[in-house]
Amino acid sequence: MEFIPEKYLVTAGGRITCIRCKAFLKKHQRQCLSPAINKKTSLCKWHGGASTGPRTKEGIERIRSAHLKSGNETLVAKGLRSRQIARLQMLEQAAYLLNMVSGPASRGRKANGYKKFESVKEIKKFFGDN
Ligand SMILES: [Zn+2]
Repeated sequence: MEFIPEKYLVTAGGRITCIRCKAFLKKHQRQCLSPAINKKTSLCKWHGGASTGPRTKEGIERIRSAHLKSGNETLVAKGLRSRQIARLQMLEQAAYLLNMVSGPASRGRKANGYKKFESVKEIKKFFGDN
């Protein structure tokens, strides 16, 4: 279910109506109860209402690096992992083509960059001649 924040907050016994913070509290599964301090962002003082976010390229990069914890899930790391898996799957397929192994082959989707070998010549070309 999609969360749709309530726009207004009525406080002081119905005497004050103000813009409500649109932040969603995961811990309590509800919208923040504080009034927003900024019309543009609709966020309270606790949820970064005064902040408009990083403006410069350096600022954006600094925030990104601060949020980076291990680098295991960056696009570069995912691409490298995918290529390595594809290479391993191609090696397995080559072993089957050369009758080096018997039994069932691994099933399922092949990784990006996987190319099926049709002949021994292609295997030699891909993995080197030595
Ligand atoms: Zn808030």
